[in-house]
Amino acid sequence: LIQLSIPLNFMGMIYREVKQSLLDIGQMFAVLDQAPEIRDAPDAKPLAVTGGAVRFEDVRFAYHPDRQILKGVSFEAPAGRTLAIVGASGAGKSTLSRLLFRFYEPSSGRILIDGQDISRVTQDSLRAAIGMVPQDTVLFNDTIAYNIRYGRWDASDDEVREAARLAQLAPVVAAMPAGYDTLVGERGLKLSGGEKQRVAIARTILKAPPILVLDEATSALDSFTEREIQDALAAVSRGRTTLVIAHRLSTIVNADEIMVMDQGEVVERGTHEALLAAGGVYAGLWNRQRRAEQALQTLKETGEEE
Ligand code: ATP
Repeated sequence: LIQLSIPLNFMGMIYREVKQSLLDIGQMFAVLDQAPEIRDAPDAKPLAVTGGAVRFEDVRFAYHPDRQILKGVSFEAPAGRTLAIVGASGAGKSTLSRLLFRFYEPSSGRILIDGQDISRVTQDSLRAAIGMVPQDTVLFNDTIAYNIRYGRWDASDDEVREAARLAQLAPVVAAMPAGYDTLVGERGLKLSGGEKQRVAIARTILKAPPILVLDEATSALDSFTEREIQDALAAVSRGRTTLVIAHRLSTIVNADEIMVMDQGEVVERGTHEALLAAGGVYAGLWNRQRRAEQALQTLKETGEEE
């Protein structure tokens, strides 16, 4: 028999592998079962956006019943203003944006846009009102023009170009072999992380949503790209209610308000200056980042990097 010629420990390994993958599949189905299907309320109406004010009222949430992630979060982002959300990894920052999109429902509390409870409006109208610039943007295997126009299909060529210009993407496109007709994506020209993020910004400029969620990339871009992205983001967030989930504090110094989260709770709120003066969690984060940046700078200057 073939099985007998296979060493026993090898059989054991296969057994464990198979058992583990069955467990993984089991867990996967458990997760799928738990992911709630969000339906429109029977009497759901389209969201009527006036200014785009976002308000969380004592929002609690858990992905799994045994682990509370948001422990009563309340805040308001007034229409047209920028609210930066900072805090340690795992504090619950991205969870706030998932709840705002209604990918999940709070276990208690309410989320309002211009005074309307988002659980009472149609999901289509809710998602049409919110633009998202994610950490990582997926490109279609198509032209760069197609990828930008994804923000709004009926945009004219001129509008696509203007969006690219505002997103600081125009020079990148100008350097491409076939300009706006250049194929990008997996089977075409590969774009860098910063370039892909600018495509997402250009799409958002075309979509022109009243509310914006910017999920800042964690990966350190070089400071030139960083500057360009910051300028592009400033252009797109002007006059829109903007939630910035920030990892690098230097990018949010000018936010109208900064909210600091820690383990599912809002622990501080205020402007950059006020929070620094308060000498609390934010001031601690800021000083730590400053020291890290200075150390990196010193390393660069002495040419010891890499
Ligand atoms: P980061 O700065 O690292 O992006 P964050 O503050 O955005 O972190 P969240 O992504 O909101 O943190 O996650 C908050 C907590 O919820 C984390 O402990 C995370 O492990 C957990 N979590 C996130 N998504 C899920 C999920 N789909 N299922 C279960 N737990 C999750």
